[in-house]
Amino acid sequence: MVTVRQNILDLSYPQLKELVHSLGEPAYRADQILWWIYGKLTTSFEEMTDLPQSLRQKLTEVASLTRLAPVDEKISTDGQTRKVLFRLEDSRTIESSLMLYEKTGSSRERRTVCVSTQVGCPVGCPFCATGQQGFERNLRPCEIIEQVLHFMRLVSTEQSSGEAATAPTRRPVTNVVFMGMGEPLANYEAVWQSIVTLNSKHGSGLGARQITVSTVGLVPQIRRLAGESIHVELAISLHAANDVLRNKLVPINKKYPLSQLIPTCRDYFKRTGRRPTFEYALFQGVNDSVNHALELARLLEGMNCQVNLIAGNPTACQEFTPSPMKKVLAFQKELKDSGVSSTVRVSKGVDIEAGCGQLRSRWIAGRA
Ligand code: SAH
Ligand code: SF4
Repeated sequence: MVTVRQNILDLSYPQLKELVHSLGEPAYRADQILWWIYGKLTTSFEEMTDLPQSLRQKLTEVASLTRLAPVDEKISTDGQTRKVLFRLEDSRTIESSLMLYEKTGSSRERRTVCVSTQVGCPVGCPFCATGQQGFERNLRPCEIIEQVLHFMRLVSTEQSSGEAATAPTRRPVTNVVFMGMGEPLANYEAVWQSIVTLNSKHGSGLGARQITVSTVGLVPQIRRLAGESIHVELAISLHAANDVLRNKLVPINKKYPLSQLIPTCRDYFKRTGRRPTFEYALFQGVNDSVNHALELARLLEGMNCQVNLIAGNPTACQEFTPSPMKKVLAFQKELKDSGVSSTVRVSKGVDIEAGCGQLRSRWIAGRA
């Protein structure tokens, strides 16, 4: 008979206390376990040396703390971006990345982990490598949290072996963005549970402002998120400012057109105080003209928001090629002249296929 062990990272704090209680132990043992997992970044119950041996033994029998298996890794030439392909327990694969924005000695130093929330994606945006892969399944909370823990362990090992050992209080990961494979709001329950754990003082203690959820714009779920107790940052993948074009680029727009999406974003700001960010990837001859910029400015008029412009990453789909930087800058100038604030993002780790789902696409192609 196969016994399926409960993954500890799938449990909420109250559920973990219940488990500990059911094993005949006082509730404070749950706090000790969480301290080992998120503070000491331990990977086995055996290492939790201040727990009674009998509890460690019982935990090993009924629960797991399994690690995702890294099967491929790419580090960008500037060393600032690392991308890892993980194999899940059912042999499916996902990718995650760590992006360093180092400013030695400055409080603005950031170590951001980009997590996946689904294997593939059901939305199917044609310019996106993940969208091109189709959809396989949702990730569980433990699989989302494990991605962050992996990089926390990696950074903390490097910190303690390098010069940074002199600054042991540095948080190994400072930010988490739900911008990897999949549509986070289409896997709402698991994403929300992982946010609660990442934000909790019993978990990794990340501030709500340090957590960003990126979405194509699932209107009911954005409304639901606005009503939650933790007000995370919201990024909307817009990519087009009229419905005809957006229906092609982001097919879910047919269900939730701009006339619903934009007021929902305004409302998100009103209810949470979080200024939405709009992601706009520019593809040559598709959505990168001065007229497209004017249209975007009109759409966002009077809204307290930020636009992130990025030259699209090339994928297998030849229809979408990156706009040249000259065009991106002309687009930005038009926005500025119309009073819309924007930044041009440089795609980090372009040399390691940093775009969402690209490493996995190559892995799948290599095995086909
Ligand atoms: N599904 C969510 C989150 C994951 S995608 C979403 O779409 O928001 C993370 C970001 O990468 C999104 O803004 C997405 O539109 C963008 N993206 C995907 N493929 C891209 C490409 N080829 N070039 C530039 N940006 C891309
Ligand atoms: Fe899915 Fe986001 Fe890619 Fe669209 S851009 S296919 S929503 S992962």
